[in-house]
Amino acid sequence: MKKRIGIFLLLLAGCSTAPKNTLTQVSTIDALLAGAYDGQMTLNKLLKYGDFGIGTFDALDGEMIMLDHQVYQARADGTIHLMPAKATAPFASVVNFKADMTPRLKDMLTAKTFQSAVDELAPNQNLFLAVRFDGCFTFMKVRSVPKQGKPYPPLAEVTPHQAVFEYTGVSGTVLGFRCPSFAKGINVPGYHLHFISDDKTKGGHVIDFTTGGGNLQLDTCNRFYMVLPEQDQFSKIDLSQDRSKELEKVEK
Ligand SMILES: [Zn+2]
Repeated sequence: MKKRIGIFLLLLAGCSTAPKNTLTQVSTIDALLAGAYDGQMTLNKLLKYGDFGIGTFDALDGEMIMLDHQVYQARADGTIHLMPAKATAPFASVVNFKADMTPRLKDMLTAKTFQSAVDELAPNQNLFLAVRFDGCFTFMKVRSVPKQGKPYPPLAEVTPHQAVFEYTGVSGTVLGFRCPSFAKGINVPGYHLHFISDDKTKGGHVIDFTTGGGNLQLDTCNRFYMVLPEQDQFSKIDLSQDRSKELEKVEK
């Protein structure tokens, strides 16, 4: 019996894939708000923790969309690029996406009413929830942030210069997370959604949309794995402040 347990632990240690229903996160949202934009984890490594997620890239170079094992960058110039495995992320949240629920949403929904509809379907606000919605959008408004140079300014000073794009009649995927309120300071409490079009030419951080319906997939996660940066940059940030007002500003 002892021998069997030993083998099991060895297998776990040798496996870098996160266990089931685990949201893996690189750095914290407050560190990002404070300007910690140095890439911390390669996409190659990040993809070992998930096949689905959102984040940003080294030097805050655009919005990250990880979908079906591929990582895309939505740049501030409005272009989308498939990213190489060696690219790095200063902040990211990923899961191995496995839907627990696949309800069909039919009504005309905006970003706000979409979130209310998801809340009704997944009422436990104290768990992390991965959200994937494949649909057609009569309207889609996204933003992306421009690449920064050092010394990095705080995120609230970058977002006034964000690029905003509006599209009509586009099909694609809205994906991201709903985080519990107790995740404040670590991740974004509530919804944080990104978008990428089916033809992989449009995307970014979702500001608003209108959809006539599509396929919703929800994956509840009750495990959380956080990877904090070891770099000097992280040690110099004051993370004792409450940055919730700044977060509210940058999310809009
Ligand atoms: Zn975002």
